[in-house]
Amino acid sequence: MARLGSWIDAQPHGIYVPAADVWIDPSRPVPRALVTHGHADHARGGHGQVWATPGTLDIMGVRYGQQNAHPVEYGTRVELGDVAATFLPAGHVLGSAQILLEHDPGSGTQRVIVSGDYKRRADPTCPAFAPVPCDIFITEATFGLPVFRHPATRDELAKLLAALAAQPERCVLVGAYALGKAQRVIAELRLMGHDAPIYIHGAMQRLCDLYREHGVDLGDLRSALDASKEAMRGAIVVAPPSALNDRWSRRLPDPITAMASGWMRVRQRAVQRNVELPLVISDHADWDELTATIREIAPKEVWVTHGREDALVHWCQSVQIKARALDLVGYEDEDD
Ligand SMILES: [Zn+2]
Ligand SMILES: [Zn+2]
Repeated sequence: MARLGSWIDAQPHGIYVPAADVWIDPSRPVPRALVTHGHADHARGGHGQVWATPGTLDIMGVRYGQQNAHPVEYGTRVELGDVAATFLPAGHVLGSAQILLEHDPGSGTQRVIVSGDYKRRADPTCPAFAPVPCDIFITEATFGLPVFRHPATRDELAKLLAALAAQPERCVLVGAYALGKAQRVIAELRLMGHDAPIYIHGAMQRLCDLYREHGVDLGDLRSALDASKEAMRGAIVVAPPSALNDRWSRRLPDPITAMASGWMRVRQRAVQRNVELPLVISDHADWDELTATIREIAPKEVWVTHGREDALVHWCQSVQIKARALDLVGYEDEDD
């Protein structure tokens, strides 16, 4: 009997599937790529052909221009050589998918899931992660340490609204990654009843437009560049983390600097960025979500792509699941 997963070749630059002649999330240009989602560490430009969800392909279009693209809807099975690939929701950002690969190496069909990045809690901007049984679950481990436990998103955003209400002559400047986090924070605030205009940095405009085209309600968004200082008093302003401490923010009325990131759990990271109001909001599974997901899926093996691999591998072994770290390069989570 063929060893489990012998047809999956985990190389430093991505996962290669010879029987389909495709790579998954390769970190350099390849002839044929399956892409889990639009973050730059997973989606690169310059591939010959790309299979991805319509949302991911639209994001890649904004970032890299037109792709030679094969759109795949969630739940649709595509045949690639001797392998069937199905894209399933990952709950990470717009268009994000886990990829289920099915192949018979001669001893019966094996099912392998490449999760990409994922989370388990609700996100108004994308469908929820679908736990699907498989033989090998290839997972991320960005927050794969027991110290990482993300609090409830609404509790974090309630702190933001309270800060805004307490100091109405100032604004709250929220640093949030431009793809995913920014739109999720805005959409959650709308669901919490915050319907005032929200001001955004120019770097977010096209991605916010794209989310809207995909049916995500972001309410009244305005350009921070075009607004007066007076207009932004008592308002929420959202900008990429890189803009928090640069000249751009000087146009704002005495900003309370906030940042929405899973890394805000680490005090030093908040201090480094001069963040007054750290908001622990992540688009990745925390430790409890990672371990609960593995228990739920109950795979025969777990392979860990990137993040804090060691603790998760050790945990899997402690519950009698075979596990190993893949030494992939180039997965620096820009998103968090
Ligand atoms: Zn990501
Ligand atoms: Zn990632």
